[in-house]
Amino acid sequence: MENEIRDVVIIGTGPAGLTAAIYASRANLKPLVVDGAQPGGQLMITSEIENYPGFPEGISGPGMMSRFREQAARFGAEFLHGSVSEVDLSRSPFCIYLEGGQEILTRTLIIATGANAKWLGLPSEEKYRGRGVSACATCDGFFFKDSNVYVIGGGDTAMEEAFFLTRFAEKVTVVHRRDEFRASRIMSLRVEKNPKINLELNQVVDEILGDGQKVTGIRLKNLKTGELSEHSCDGVFIAIGHMPNSRIFERQLTIDEYGYIETAKSSTETSVQGVFACGDVQDYTYRQAVTAAGTGCMAALDAEKYLESIR
Ligand code: NAP
Repeated sequence: MENEIRDVVIIGTGPAGLTAAIYASRANLKPLVVDGAQPGGQLMITSEIENYPGFPEGISGPGMMSRFREQAARFGAEFLHGSVSEVDLSRSPFCIYLEGGQEILTRTLIIATGANAKWLGLPSEEKYRGRGVSACATCDGFFFKDSNVYVIGGGDTAMEEAFFLTRFAEKVTVVHRRDEFRASRIMSLRVEKNPKINLELNQVVDEILGDGQKVTGIRLKNLKTGELSEHSCDGVFIAIGHMPNSRIFERQLTIDEYGYIETAKSSTETSVQGVFACGDVQDYTYRQAVTAAGTGCMAALDAEKYLESIR
């Protein structure tokens, strides 16, 4: 494989990368798919997916990802286990360096490295993840009908999550570490005016409480007084931002101030011709499996068109 120049290399095996692999392999481009640090992406830590069309009974995240993978393999996508340590996009063919020293040359690159939700870092948060602790209201809000939930964060994501959760929950409390929100005025006002939403300001999460099986409460610490307070609740949504996995592309591609790879409007083209980005590494707005898959499809079609143009 060392000196061969590939037509398409895809980095990342979440819904975006694997959909790109399905489309590229069906176009006979024999894509090489590099697994990445977390094969399967964020869905591997998602227990139940109920909003992906075509699965009326729901499906587990790992179950869905293994089906995507099987489908890509069926049409000839080749998988390589490992992580990319560096890329050289300054000249074509591009060079992809894997940890361990292997080098891959390719005419097009599809980046589908995803993003990770930021977590507070508490052991209790890890323990109850998927059992009351979530970082995605769109994904999990439905499971919290008539419940009492807490949303942590003061940015637009936290406001959006809190607002969305009022559709299901009886009571939503936003916990923010300062007394002023970072979120845009319009989003903060919408939250402040909602009668279902309470605010706990100048507070941080000291501990997420549970009965060993699921979340039962939360302990907050007031940063002004140091006072601890315990509150019962059914769920805790962490909404303190996301970290796109774009570090290895810094200085080679145009990346916005939050680390998201910039793509052209209605396209997956990046600032380097022949390099395409799809899924959560370039999308902070939708962040859904189905939208990631959609942009993965777009990236494969864009790569195919680009290859035709250089032949
Ligand atoms: P963000 O703007 O970085 O806000 C993160 C929030 O979490 C901040 O309020 C921060 O507090 C808090 N936070 C961070 N680490 C924390 C910790 N360890 N403990 C407690 N609190 C912590 O992130 P985001 O809300 O995800 O937004 C990212 C970008 O996406 C922004 O540009 C945003 O406008 C955009 N966005 C837009 C929309 C929309 O327009 N519909 C929706 C979502 C996101 P501090 O304020 O004290 O730093």
